[in-house]
Amino acid sequence: MQGSKPLSAPQKALRKLGLARDIDLALHLPLRYEDETRLTRLRDAREADTLQIEGTVTANEIAYRPRRQLVVTLDDGTDTCQLRFFSFYPAQQKTLAVGTRIRARGELRGGLFGWQMVHPVCRPAQGPLPEALTPVYPTVATLPQAYLRKAVLSGLSRADLSDTFPPGLAARLGQDPAWGLREALAFLHHPGPRTPLATLEDRSHPAWQRLKAEELLAQQLSQLQSKRERDVLRAPALAPAPGGLHEQLLAALPFGLTRAQHRVCEEIARDLTRPVPMHRLLQGDVGSGKTVVAALAAAVAIDAGTQCALMAPTEILAEQHFRKLIGWLEPLLAPRGLRVAWLTGSQKKKERTEMLALIASGEAALVVGTHAVIQEQVQFKELALAIIDEQHRFGVAQRLALREKTQDAGLEPHLLMMSATPIPRTLAMSYYADLDVSTIDELPPGRTPIVTKVIADTRRDQVIERIRVQIESGRQAYWVCPLIEESEALDLTNATATHQALSETLPGILVGLLHSRMPVAEKKAVMSLFESGEMGVLVATTVIEVGVDVPNASLMVIEHAERFGLSQLHQLRGRVGRGAAASACVLLYGAGENGRLSDTARERLKAMAETHDGFEIARRDLEIRGPGEFLGARQSGAPLLRFADLEADRPLLEKIRALAPAILDRHPDLAERHVARWLGGKSDYLKA
Ligand code: ADP
Ligand code: MG
Repeated sequence: MQGSKPLSAPQKALRKLGLARDIDLALHLPLRYEDETRLTRLRDAREADTLQIEGTVTANEIAYRPRRQLVVTLDDGTDTCQLRFFSFYPAQQKTLAVGTRIRARGELRGGLFGWQMVHPVCRPAQGPLPEALTPVYPTVATLPQAYLRKAVLSGLSRADLSDTFPPGLAARLGQDPAWGLREALAFLHHPGPRTPLATLEDRSHPAWQRLKAEELLAQQLSQLQSKRERDVLRAPALAPAPGGLHEQLLAALPFGLTRAQHRVCEEIARDLTRPVPMHRLLQGDVGSGKTVVAALAAAVAIDAGTQCALMAPTEILAEQHFRKLIGWLEPLLAPRGLRVAWLTGSQKKKERTEMLALIASGEAALVVGTHAVIQEQVQFKELALAIIDEQHRFGVAQRLALREKTQDAGLEPHLLMMSATPIPRTLAMSYYADLDVSTIDELPPGRTPIVTKVIADTRRDQVIERIRVQIESGRQAYWVCPLIEESEALDLTNATATHQALSETLPGILVGLLHSRMPVAEKKAVMSLFESGEMGVLVATTVIEVGVDVPNASLMVIEHAERFGLSQLHQLRGRVGRGAAASACVLLYGAGENGRLSDTARERLKAMAETHDGFEIARRDLEIRGPGEFLGARQSGAPLLRFADLEADRPLLEKIRALAPAILDRHPDLAERHVARWLGGKSDYLKA
């Protein structure tokens, strides 16, 4: 980039849209098309059609009523049409001078003065009509359509579009091999005049099918590549020592493991004994008992004389999630002269320095905290296992940084990610194809099912009465106020008002407030009052979405439940029903503008009341909200599928997934070119 000129506004916009390489431009497909291949005679035209007419300008004047405008009259020999421009340049007025022949394209309207077009696109009537439909590209304000069209056209002509599909692949996918990438792109940018637009809109056209196959292949190959790259990396092989920490912990637990917990523990233990880094996702519904599985994995690492790091996305979550785990492990570590270190952003410098020393010397066998754990100054003696809770809340860059922590020694840590949001199968096959997944599909015994009720906000008083009854019988309740993303302030006012109202209506009961803007110390104070049982009701914004574990809480009220995602509601609901008492979740909904809840919203809430299966809920959520929710931070780094649709193109995805390993084995060069072409510099992110 030496001596390069500063970028113009459209050039900057191109960069911003990710259109840097010729191939990126070639893959920037039209949103829709305009048909400029035909002319319509005004005599044959119908009102409200978008069409192109050609004629001679017979009048050109500026009118001032009802507002300033340029009015040009066009005569095509069969009728006349007035072209109106409310904003125009003097130059425009000249190119539309009386006597000029022009083509105008726009929506035809009838009116008092005959045919009219408002702000039509005008060109001099020179040369033949275009032979292909005119593409209209997705763009931004600073990037004019005409500029983008030219850029795409030149990108398309310069880009290397040679075939990277191995011979026979298209046919095996049931596609017409005549549609290569080159043919498909040439066609989609400039489809011929008689193309049925419906096949382009629903993406069923063979050109579209080819692009989808290309995109899915790139994604599958790239994930397979990263899996294989990881397979040649080395990690410390960790085996539980007989009679060691692992066994001691199992013996010390106040409960026996469920069958599902046993199974996933074995899956993890098996990974840990291998000298290649584990890359495993542990998924299990809220309350399924992931923490103890993490503790047992940590015990294996510690037994082997190495260190284990545990991370959660926020300080309060880190504390909530790991307090139990520490409670189990710490008494077993002390006799071995080992300790637990905490690392958080809010820590005092002195304490932090102490912790860093413990970590560097290896005395801290377990390091717990937020992303502070992976900051540069943190030097481990030998980090062998990293466990990330609520992995989807972490950024990709943070996970990459973690993996680099031990690369000095030539060894990578094993990685265990935990999530309560189950990944639907289609996503597991695509975005997470490189990930091994363990699933806890069974809740610990003794849980009472949660009864979910959908209730209108107008019956709020009855709900509050129910809270009083619960608390009088010795139970506790949560009241969740929605997070209004556009306005954190409004959000807070809302929660504060609810807190006050509940305090007034429930005299003699301690009502607490917890929200994201409170200082950490204050949050902790509130939490400990609630945990000790002194506080009857906890009003909170979604900060308690994950991580709170108070078995005595048996009622949860979620205000404006219609504003939450289904998986989010499910996670919230999982905070009750942890003890022996019968638990309930009340989904309060606010009425819409017409005083009613929309049908979709009602359907969704009804679904919540009907099912307690996290997978089923995740599947419905995926249908309603798309994959962003599940991909979390991954979506910002990794390109989401642009052309293929996970649900609609699932058969194609399955075929390609099955063929990808053989392609990578037999045609490594083609595979590499294919991935580079489609993912460019972005594929690194997919490996995190
Ligand atoms: P999550 O999967 O949501 O992280 P936790 O690990 O917090 O769930 O476990 C929820 C609760 O269940 C905790 O109080 C935990 O101690 C308890 N628990 C975990 N496993 C069992 C088990 N096998 N039997 C009984 N209780 C268990
Ligand atoms: Mg948990």
